[in-house]
Amino acid sequence: MEAQASTLESLDRITRNKLDDLEAKNLRRRLSTTDRLGGIDVLRDGRRLISFCCNDYLNLSQHPDVKRAAIDATRVYGTGAGASRLVTGNHSLYRELEAALARLKGSEDACVFGSGYLTNLGVIPSLVGEGDLVVLDELSHACIHAGAALSRARVECFRHNETEHVESILAAWRGAHRRALIVTDGVFSMDGDLAPVPKLAGIAERFDAWLMTDDAHGIGVVGGGRGSTFAHGSPAHVPLQMGTLSKAVGSYGGYLCASKPVVDLIRTRARPFVYSTGLPPSAVAASIAALELIERDAETVARPLAKARRFTAHLDLPEAQSCIVPILVGEAERALEASRVLEERGYLVTAIRPPTVPAGTARLRFTFTASHRDDDVDRVAEIVRTEIFSGGCRPGS
Ligand SMILES: *Cc1c(COP(=O)(O)O)cnc(C)c1O
Repeated sequence: MEAQASTLESLDRITRNKLDDLEAKNLRRRLSTTDRLGGIDVLRDGRRLISFCCNDYLNLSQHPDVKRAAIDATRVYGTGAGASRLVTGNHSLYRELEAALARLKGSEDACVFGSGYLTNLGVIPSLVGEGDLVVLDELSHACIHAGAALSRARVECFRHNETEHVESILAAWRGAHRRALIVTDGVFSMDGDLAPVPKLAGIAERFDAWLMTDDAHGIGVVGGGRGSTFAHGSPAHVPLQMGTLSKAVGSYGGYLCASKPVVDLIRTRARPFVYSTGLPPSAVAASIAALELIERDAETVARPLAKARRFTAHLDLPEAQSCIVPILVGEAERALEASRVLEERGYLVTAIRPPTVPAGTARLRFTFTASHRDDDVDRVAEIVRTEIFSGGCRPGS
């Protein structure tokens, strides 16, 4: 008993030291209870704020048709899937959702996972392993880096969106490896810019590599709602399009859209698919209803990007390419302070700090949704101009 007590004590002591260290660097993170109030308004610490940091770009999580679909599915199928999809968790809504995703993305088939994070952890190690090469944009989402590390392939990162660097890495390393996979965000989650997808597709073809894009922030927003593959004129050749159902789709889950053999292999081999329980029927039904709205309502799909462009025009920034607009402020402490200034004025824009973004590039990350009113966009831009830029920081990215 005594040995046990002292183990616990040292566990707490070590974790407390780590927390103190993070606190000293302004890198400790804390949860705030935030209740969404039906649209872009949220309730936090008893205050009503207008949120500019939610990824529910089309506000579909609050849409009556989407909510009804989730409630109806719960009535029919219950609250949980009960087992992994390969056992008894594959309720009949899955087939409908996977067909809708494949249709939207122009792929032969699709496979739905528990989340976007799990999709990248599952897909990358199913396709490449020891003796293979993975080439990543350095700013790719954390779960792409995690999936690549899990695969045990050789991982090389290229400078953000620099296709010449991709070519030089492949020229140096491709020959010594059996297979090669290039992975990038289609829309960068913390910068809001687009990957040069058609160029990367050309490079992939030339070097006999496979191209995979993470379209977490593309689906429902760019390319007419079909994502970054469709945002550059004629559709690019992207054999592996993954993404999430938790952002513009307003629900939960992740997906891979690919050819039939690829999807069949993933369903057989991807560990987070095989060893994790299926999604609740309500989440799957909500995604189906949301995708129907995305396919049908081009006007709503176009709105978040238009709001983001209104904001960048107001501030004389480069025109927004997606509905994410970062304002770089440098050190973590400054980002926290800028976020506090906005919160005092009634706007919620969380500070994004390392390790989510590289050191020295802490920022405010604004996201725009179909429901933001033009006058709120103008007002928040004006606060940034007068109170945040005037503090000496200039926009980056
Ligand atoms: C949010 C995000 C994910 C993770 O998706 P979840 O469904 O939330 O797990 C993956 N990739 C990118 C680029 C993201 O922004």
